[in-house]
Amino acid sequence: MSGCLFCSIIAGDIPSEKVYEDDAVYAFRDISPQAPVHILVIPKEHIESAARVTKDNSACVARCFEAIALLGEKLGLGDYRVVSNCGARAGQSVFHLHFHVLAGRDMAWPPG
Ligand code: AMP
Repeated sequence: MSGCLFCSIIAGDIPSEKVYEDDAVYAFRDISPQAPVHILVIPKEHIESAARVTKDNSACVARCFEAIALLGEKLGLGDYRVVSNCGARAGQSVFHLHFHVLAGRDMAWPPG
């Protein structure tokens, strides 16, 4: 979608540190890591947030989680947290569905 930062990253118009890509999913390192490993896993299809997932577009969400499991193995992440901020008040700043994969340190619960 034009004007979407993550669509521009998928298209290669904005550089990223890619760690995984297939026909449905793109994954890259977060520019402002909140843990020793901080990867963003995104569907190539533009979906605004988790609140916009429907029966018609949810297959790419499953594909994101398949990619996360693969990355967990490939990168030897050990235990990790998967987070999707949904809406500005929950901390979403980029309105293209994405899953933060955080690893490499102990995680507090509940999050702040
Ligand atoms: P959220 O705040 O949950 O919407 O997450 C958006 C994430 O995108 C933040 O963790 C940002 O650090 C990250 N981010 C923003 N711009 C870039 C970029 N150009 N490359 C990699 N990560 C980015």
